[in-house]
Amino acid sequence: MELAYTPEQQAFRAEVRDWMAANVPARPLVTLEREEGYHQHVAWERRLAEGNWGMVTWPEAYGGRGLDLIQWLIFEEEYYRAQAPLRVNQNGIFLLGPTIMEYGTDEQKARFLTPMAKGEVIWAQAWSEPNAGSDMAAIKTRAVRDGDHYVISGQKTWSSRASFADWGFGLFRTDPESKRHKGLSFILFDLNTPGITRRPIRQFHGDPGFAELFFDEVRVPVENRIAAEGEGWNVAMATAGFERGLMLRSPARFQAAAARLVALFREHRDRASPAAREQVLAAWMGAQAYAYNTYAVASKIMAGGHIGAEASLNKIFWSELDRAMHRTAMQLLGATAELRQFAGDRANDWLEGYIFSLAGPIYAGSNEIQRNIIAERLLGLPR
Ligand SMILES: Cc1cc2nc3c(=O)[nH]c(=O)nc-3n(C[C@H](O)[C@H](O)[C@H](O)COP(=O)(O)OP(=O)(O)OC[C@H]3O[C@@H](n4cnc5c(N)ncnc54)[C@H](O)[C@@H]3O)c2cc1C
Repeated sequence: MELAYTPEQQAFRAEVRDWMAANVPARPLVTLEREEGYHQHVAWERRLAEGNWGMVTWPEAYGGRGLDLIQWLIFEEEYYRAQAPLRVNQNGIFLLGPTIMEYGTDEQKARFLTPMAKGEVIWAQAWSEPNAGSDMAAIKTRAVRDGDHYVISGQKTWSSRASFADWGFGLFRTDPESKRHKGLSFILFDLNTPGITRRPIRQFHGDPGFAELFFDEVRVPVENRIAAEGEGWNVAMATAGFERGLMLRSPARFQAAAARLVALFREHRDRASPAAREQVLAAWMGAQAYAYNTYAVASKIMAGGHIGAEASLNKIFWSELDRAMHRTAMQLLGATAELRQFAGDRANDWLEGYIFSLAGPIYAGSNEIQRNIIAERLLGLPR
């Protein structure tokens, strides 16, 4: 196995590093869970696009650079090294974009991908419903065909950034007689369509980044459906695979956090317990292990392979690593942790990051559900 970077890859790294050094905002942005911070993050997305860094792996025709997954990992390493802001369009670029690339028509690719890469249209994911979270096949929100439109009625919830975003994608029941995984379709909708009400959900820190979405006979053109009617479940499973697998949480994020944790330990060494030293070491090794594994997965995909149920292993690993790292940081900071300002960027602020890390085992499919998937599909255990 050859682990060294080629001269071209090193030159690419230097190019990203230089651009980030010249462009990453000097002061952290306000959290993207608040309207002010959301708009700051959108402005950052557009700045990235001006440098043609919106989504480097996408074809040039769709606002990308046509680069490979190893270059993507290098980009991410430099991105997090520079402590650049979180990607406010992550649901678009990391989840919906690859889905459209795989299942969309040429017209849909031309219409949706470039504005996504350029940060012109920010996307929210609308899958969960009050009685359909882990059990997504219980989705009830209907999309009834009326000529060349669907008429959508029902409710979605926990939609990240839907309080402010432009468009949403979700799963809807297009066959009213259907049950469970059948009869669902994957539909894109403009969040400003008449009949949609967004009700922000204030989290315990008061920020309204989540929203409930109410659909009251909302007319959405049939051309906004991705793949065939009734095939939505398979499309959504591909989207979930992108979410849990390679894209959503790149190892660079955790390697950068591990490096900050080592620095924090040095700063607080005098009062750190021997256990803390072990935890810091374990966090650093965990981030390295995740990075090596991701390079292996990227190489496998570049050789024509696919990520299947092993994306669930990935999701459990990064979410538990993130929680453990932030818990250790809280222990090192002691009572001073709570005195920190609570408005920062969750990738670069320990308290904000700690609170968010607690949600890691829940979003992108809870870790209990991932364990069920591993048990059934990877280990072949009985249900
Ligand atoms: C930070 C964050 C961001 C989110 N963003 C979005 C978003 O943008 N769009 C969106 O649609 N949703 C989003 N969600 C919602 C998320 O997908 C759901 O919270 C998640 O799927 C769990 O569903 P639930 O909350 O209804 O919990 P439930 O499904 O009610 O589960 C409750 C508990 O029971 C466990 N459980 C349930 N069924 C089983 C089972 N069969 N076996 C073992 N254990 C089980 C679960 O693991 C969990 O611990 C987000 C959630 C969070 C925390």
